[in-house]
Amino acid sequence: MKIICIGRNYVEHIQELGHTVPDNPVFFLKPDTALLTRNRPFFYPDFSQEIHYEAELVLRICKVGKAIRKQFAHTYYDAIGIGLDLTARDLQTKAKENGLPWALSKGFDQSAPISRFVPITTFPDTGQIPFHLDLNGKTVQQGNSSLMIFPFDEIISYISRFITLRTGDLIFTGTPSGVGPLKIGDKLEAYLGEVKMLQCMIK
Ligand code: MG
Repeated sequence: MKIICIGRNYVEHIQELGHTVPDNPVFFLKPDTALLTRNRPFFYPDFSQEIHYEAELVLRICKVGKAIRKQFAHTYYDAIGIGLDLTARDLQTKAKENGLPWALSKGFDQSAPISRFVPITTFPDTGQIPFHLDLNGKTVQQGNSSLMIFPFDEIISYISRFITLRTGDLIFTGTPSGVGPLKIGDKLEAYLGEVKMLQCMIK
């Protein structure tokens, strides 16, 4: 399976990082070795001094698709979870300055803590899914799928023009504003609506 992540999908997050709103979804990949499941702890790596949290809604792909039309895109995912697109911001900033890829800063081991998945049928409207992230008990990020620049179906349609989607692939759909650095001892808790879905201790 593969993990595809959308960057720059919420206006306020684009502003906080000083970027401009893109014409098309910007995406990058993480390897499957980035996955961190079952609320296991994240071990702060020695190669970065600035690991940032980014809480994101995650789609689970349920069938193979290539060049999917937007109106059929909703049939290609069957579940939603919440994930953390952990980012070595110091390495990413250096890469951006030098015009280099993001693979190191986004794809390292454990950089994708992920919750369990909830069937799509649980949600009355997938265009209105609220989520938030607490850091040490204080809410630091709040998002809603209604605030995404590129909604789920547009993301799936766009990505599948270039990359075939397969059952089990995961799509991280972008982070809202409020990203920030982590330190050893921190506790992250991510919620879909008011339901706690994911916990991650930083060790
Ligand atoms: Mg992200």
